[in-house]
Amino acid sequence: MPVEQRLVQQAYVFALDATPRQQRAFASHAGGARFAYNWGLQRIAEALDARQAEKTAGLKPTTRVPGHFDLCKAWTQWKDTTEWTDRNTGEVTVGVPWVARNFVGTYQAALRDAAAAWKRFFDSRAGRLAGRRVGRPRFKKKGRSRASFQVHGAQLQVVDAHHVKLPKVGVVKTHESTRKLLRRIRKGDTTCPTCKATGQVPGKDTPKKCPACKGSGRVPVARLVRGTVSQGSDGRWSIALTVEVVREIRTGPSDRQRAGGTIGVDLGVRSLVVTSAGEQFEHPRHLEAALDRLAAAQRALARCQPGSRRRAKAAARVARLHARVANLRRDATHKLTSRLVHSHERIGVEGWDVQQTAQRGSADVPKRVRRDRNRVLADANLGELRWQLQSKAAWYGCQVQVADRHAATGRTCSACGQVRVKPVPPFEEQFTCPACGWCGDRRWNTARVLAAVARGEHQQYDDASSGGESLNARGGDVRPAALRRGGRSSLKREARARPPGRGETGIPGP
Ligand SMILES: [Zn+2]
Ligand SMILES: [Zn+2]
Repeated sequence: MPVEQRLVQQAYVFALDATPRQQRAFASHAGGARFAYNWGLQRIAEALDARQAEKTAGLKPTTRVPGHFDLCKAWTQWKDTTEWTDRNTGEVTVGVPWVARNFVGTYQAALRDAAAAWKRFFDSRAGRLAGRRVGRPRFKKKGRSRASFQVHGAQLQVVDAHHVKLPKVGVVKTHESTRKLLRRIRKGDTTCPTCKATGQVPGKDTPKKCPACKGSGRVPVARLVRGTVSQGSDGRWSIALTVEVVREIRTGPSDRQRAGGTIGVDLGVRSLVVTSAGEQFEHPRHLEAALDRLAAAQRALARCQPGSRRRAKAAARVARLHARVANLRRDATHKLTSRLVHSHERIGVEGWDVQQTAQRGSADVPKRVRRDRNRVLADANLGELRWQLQSKAAWYGCQVQVADRHAATGRTCSACGQVRVKPVPPFEEQFTCPACGWCGDRRWNTARVLAAVARGEHQQYDDASSGGESLNARGGDVRPAALRRGGRSSLKREARARPPGRGETGIPGP
């Protein structure tokens, strides 16, 4: 089995068992991060407005749009010199007193995120970003946005199998064992796989500019890059540790995968997955199972007095139920995708946009039917499923071929390749080919077509070749580009795309 050592980023998530005092520190950090994020968004918005004003006055805009480093500098100055009025006591101070209570890197990370949000917005508008159009960055709001913050640096440590250490907060107990990660960290360092891949002899003629080892030829087996602490909807705090790990990545298929060969996977609402091999995986339908209990909890919540303790409790109960469903769902999806990836060499999946389908798909269907379908669609976690297939495949020597999002896979005959003019009506279970007379389960038919796509037999359905969505072009428009205001086809947007030039802050002007 071909194996290669590679440096990859991996996330380890641990639920935290924090003391009340630590939870208060978490809330304080999250509040600080939210404030800094909004502050950063506002600074950039002001700079953009100033540029706009200069433009309308007929001048060449000279106001610089601040990047991450500019924001950090401005923040440091702002927190020391501004006049701050305490909202509770009304006390006025020079400098913002609460800033020093939290870890400084938290603010830097929030400002970086603010700059990145604006950059994504402009990149998306200019066609430099794949996927759905990104909206103008919005301010975070307490209670509405998820409470979270980031930490990094030497004070971020995995202490032992049940404790992590965070800057300013100290040692926090984890619910789950960190043993797997700890074992990797304690392995110390190893030869740099990045240098090795370029044919350098690590430690001897290693280039200084190697991004992984900076010329030393050695890298830690596992290095903590950052930790993101966030509060789930059920009120519990958890930490996601982003770790750079030297891992063995399978670059080719294993015996088991080779024996499994190529498979097409139809993702759907009625059964979760139908494979071209005829296997069928039903929906776990966790949400459906919890629906009665959720409805009861929801009703109890509605009866409570706003702002009361009882209401808070009832809200927590609703949130807990939702969190439980989400956990079960994630678990089921992981098991399914692992199984598919480990036992096949190549997988073909459909590329349609799940959210688009939920929003606009089959507008002619009665509202009730659509609502039920969308609920199942959300419960099925299809987007996540596809994403997991892709990311796991990259690690385990399997190839995933995503069909173009507009590909007529559902209308194509898997026996002769003829495309039906009319789609198969939604209520029909069988696919009958008018050309060759082949007849079979419609989902099985689609899965077989997808398998053919994965084998490269339907070139026109390939994601890249159709121009619908390649690496950089934005796709996903259901309506023709001309109908949208200011619309451009994704191909045109692709042609216009360019990487940011030298000296650009990364935040292009409007
Ligand atoms: Zn290196
Ligand atoms: Zn046919």
